[in-house]
Amino acid sequence: MNPRHHPSADVLAAYAAGALAPGFGLVVGAHLERCAQCRKQVDAYEAASGEALATLPAVDLSSDALTAVMARLQEPAPPPPQQDARPFIERLPLKPRRWVAPGVWVAAVDTPHAPQDRVYLLSVAPGMPTARHEHAGAEFCTVLTGAYQDELGVFSAGDFASAERDLNHQPRVIGSEPCVCLFATEGRLKAHGLIGRLAFAFADV
Ligand SMILES: [Zn+2]
Repeated sequence: MNPRHHPSADVLAAYAAGALAPGFGLVVGAHLERCAQCRKQVDAYEAASGEALATLPAVDLSSDALTAVMARLQEPAPPPPQQDARPFIERLPLKPRRWVAPGVWVAAVDTPHAPQDRVYLLSVAPGMPTARHEHAGAEFCTVLTGAYQDELGVFSAGDFASAERDLNHQPRVIGSEPCVCLFATEGRLKAHGLIGRLAFAFADV
């Protein structure tokens, strides 16, 4: 099934330009794996920026530079990078899972990020309440397996959600399998209740 919730055009353009912080780019990448429509959009942004570069005025190259370029062209091409065929979730550099409550675990993703940011997987079993929380900054989320529902609708595998500061919401897991989501969160969340506070403490690498 194709994802129903997508990143905004601004987010896709920032992704194409490499302007997103790595954790946030990772969450968008998780959506792109499942969404041909957004991949096409990102390709278009990349092509447009390539054309912009091609129309820049030519600069005078010194004769040394030309020699260096010719020498590089004669070097054998490096082998193409190996494609990793494992599912996205298995390619994530995860820290060990930490159980927060029965049916709820969190695993930090070992990726570069600002000290106050968090990049993590959160798995919540059906019937478990998630933490009601408020945001102190932006949050990106892509559902990897399972589904949840909140005020904005149903989010299932591949769906992307972003939340801005001051949003106070409590998603609910629906269906029969645990809902596993990849999160990148900027700044501190103001989590309410013990489960929320433990989950966000454990997401700290
Ligand atoms: Zn999409």
